[in-house]
Amino acid sequence: MKPLIAANWKMNKTVSETRAYFERFLPLVEGYDAADVLVCPPFTSLQAAREMLEGSSVALGAQNCHYEDAGAYTGEVSLPMLKELGVSFVIVGHSERRHLFNESDELINKKLLACLRHGVRPVLCVGEKKEEREAGLTFKVVETQLRLALSGAEELLSRVEVAYEPVWAIGTGTPATPEQAQEVHAFIKSLLKELNPNAEVRVLYGGSVKPSNAKAFLEQPAVDGLLVGTASLDPESFAQIVKALE
Ligand code: PEP
Repeated sequence: MKPLIAANWKMNKTVSETRAYFERFLPLVEGYDAADVLVCPPFTSLQAAREMLEGSSVALGAQNCHYEDAGAYTGEVSLPMLKELGVSFVIVGHSERRHLFNESDELINKKLLACLRHGVRPVLCVGEKKEEREAGLTFKVVETQLRLALSGAEELLSRVEVAYEPVWAIGTGTPATPEQAQEVHAFIKSLLKELNPNAEVRVLYGGSVKPSNAKAFLEQPAVDGLLVGTASLDPESFAQIVKALE
């Protein structure tokens, strides 16, 4: 399995900024095939990103989706809409969706199952808050999030990516240590094996990844990739992260 290095731009970059980004980013990673690369721009930039990515091996992802195909859901975007734009991955259960927009494990499960129904790969994010880690609840929180989100998806687990993103490390500049990541990743992998012994699932680390620490995370045996927010907004720094193991 190649590592997957994924960019989550969050609510950043207009259409023109998206074009300018790929003009700089694509030449920097051209011909590099030791990692799979995924970029998740905001919905409004998907079409421009798709045009810029034509002929490249960089995959296109969305940051969210609705679980229904169509209907009276003002402001929402469905999987058939995303697929027509060339989207092959969707981030599901990001901590900002969970905690700022009150997404429940039940809703995240519906979105994840909808992705699988449409042949789109969900990138399921899980992770504990600071106070949960301090209370010794990390494994319990991560296990509950995983079991609820993946309920009914056991057979199709190979079509899922999981991202371990401790909430206290996201956008704070304070990453987990590589050893902390390894410990939780190993736990996640054992749980995934229990759910489906035959499935190969990449488990990505996310939370304040930068060019200076990317290699140390990727060298951990249970870390199969990275999900990068802030540092993915700059094409040079994201390209350095993509090539961290070079
Ligand atoms: C994220 O939001 O998925 C993330 C990991 O952000 P950052 O890299 O900025 O911590």
